[in-house]
Amino acid sequence: MSVTCPICEAEAEEKLPRAGDHVEIICPMCLRFGMTTSALAIVYHRLPEDRHAALYQARAVAAQDNNTPLITAEMF
Ligand SMILES: [Zn+2]
Repeated sequence: MSVTCPICEAEAEEKLPRAGDHVEIICPMCLRFGMTTSALAIVYHRLPEDRHAALYQARAVAAQDNNTPLITAEMF
């Protein structure tokens, strides 16, 4: 499904069906990442630099155990 990337607002894809309590986005700029529905509810109220900071934080966590980055509400 075509969506607007919640981080950079580029045209992105959402992987469906949704798995549990998070969405999975595949963006040409931000690559592949997950976002919890609670993070999704507040991301549009955050500044672009804060959104990117959350993505970097999620990537750093994911790199430790080779997972897809998952952005949670606590990262904003
Ligand atoms: Zn993006």
